[in-house]
Amino acid sequence: MRMNDNNRRGKVWLVGAGPGDPTLMTVRAREMLAQSDVVVYDALIGPAVRSLIPSDAEKIYVGKRSGRHTLRQEEINQVLLDKALEGKRVVRLKGGDPFLFGRGGEELELLAGSDIDFEIIPGITSAFAVPAYNGIPVTHRDMCSSVHVITGHRRAGGELDIDYDALVRGGGTLVFLMGISNLGAIADGLMAAGMSGDTPAAVLERGTTAMQRRVSVTLSSIEAAADAAMVQTPAIIVVGEVCALADRFSWKDKMPLSDVRAVVTRPREMASRLSSMLREEGAEVIELPTIVTKKISDNHRIHQAIEGLGRGDYGWLVFTSPAGVRVFMEELTEVSDIRALGGVRIAAIGQGSARELLRYGLHADMIPSVYDGETLGRELAQVIKEPCGILVPRASIGNKELIHELEQTGNTVDDIPTYDTLYEQVEPGLAEEIFAEQDSDRTYAVFTSASTVRGFLAGCSDVQTSNVKAVCIGKQTAAEAESAGMKTYVAGKATLEDLVAALKAAADEETRIE
Ligand code: SAH
Repeated sequence: MRMNDNNRRGKVWLVGAGPGDPTLMTVRAREMLAQSDVVVYDALIGPAVRSLIPSDAEKIYVGKRSGRHTLRQEEINQVLLDKALEGKRVVRLKGGDPFLFGRGGEELELLAGSDIDFEIIPGITSAFAVPAYNGIPVTHRDMCSSVHVITGHRRAGGELDIDYDALVRGGGTLVFLMGISNLGAIADGLMAAGMSGDTPAAVLERGTTAMQRRVSVTLSSIEAAADAAMVQTPAIIVVGEVCALADRFSWKDKMPLSDVRAVVTRPREMASRLSSMLREEGAEVIELPTIVTKKISDNHRIHQAIEGLGRGDYGWLVFTSPAGVRVFMEELTEVSDIRALGGVRIAAIGQGSARELLRYGLHADMIPSVYDGETLGRELAQVIKEPCGILVPRASIGNKELIHELEQTGNTVDDIPTYDTLYEQVEPGLAEEIFAEQDSDRTYAVFTSASTVRGFLAGCSDVQTSNVKAVCIGKQTAAEAESAGMKTYVAGKATLEDLVAALKAAADEETRIE
């Protein structure tokens, strides 16, 4: 529970969430989101940003979505006020920058009038970021000296309120937001005011995400080209000489995984290395943890074993996951210290566990040739000349083969559960949106263990598994995904490097088929 005494004054943070790529949120936005009690958001907030909303925060969706009633602006204002009056820390998430066509000003009126504290956290606007992600600099010294950001939205039933003459006379780059449904009228208006039909123009769809697309043409052909490409919202229209630079300066689409959305399902504290490896290749990463590891509270067995370690009862200490290493080291320091490990040799199932050991200054003496329980058991049994005591601190649902292989050669194995793997409930609707039909060809779930697959099935029950493409770290993981009806791809070796390579191969194959 968060601190929430009745005396505390509520407050509202009007936060710019940026254009879609969650790494384009400001440090301040991330900080306030992490501390929020209530988050109010609308349709412009994509799934990658939504996945960052703390699981214990109340989430209030106020946008348009099929089958649901849309809140009117006054109702949204009232929600912000009511929650603040309850003493809550309210984050109002807005796409891009909250004050650029975001009705940020309107939402503050009621708060200011009611003496509610608020803060404004500016955001990176789509008007500039989306062109940047497409290699279009909105100004360029040789081409223009100003940039204009214009709304292309008609007021209910009304006309477009655009002064085309002034825009054409100004000669700057023109960026239209909310203009896709009026694209033809806007192009006609500009040409009628004297702008050449040959002026470079572009429609930029779903910028900064894996679904980003660019339609680069000239002003006179822009409507037909956008229709042919079946452009979807959100999209912006850019008109001006600078659009021609996209051919030379576009960069995102040149990255190997630029059109891939990778859903990382491992526990958040373990996700960062995999996530940054995927981002490095250009993928849009959504962290959607499906399991959490929780230390088992009854730790007397492991404490006894640790005392045994100090007495030399064990020849080998075996780890089958990074979480197993972490929990064991915590238990170790509770009753003893690292010197208790002086006489014991250490085996790790794979690179991840070995890397975790290294954080405590420990090298693994043995890593199997294939990173699974059975191979670890078999190969370790071959290394051990004299039968000895073997300590295996691991998850309560560990696989049996490891123990079986080790016992076959006369060793005494202490298989001690130290942590449970629990399923994480994913926010209802979020996974469904991520794996929705329209984006499913470019969306991949990345699974690093069979338990993450099981967690996914439990926590994302609204997802149609036949739409899910699963990139799996090993055979066991893939078997679990396959039996749930997912299309699977398997890493060559059970390393994160090979996992990323498998994702690349899967995406390449997909491109060839198209
Ligand atoms: N405050 C927002 C704009 C709100 S108006 C900002 O600063 O970005 C909503 C319009 O923004 C959409 O109709 C679209 O034109 C544009 N937009 C927002 N995100 C976008 C994105 N990722 N790609 C393309 N256009 C986007």
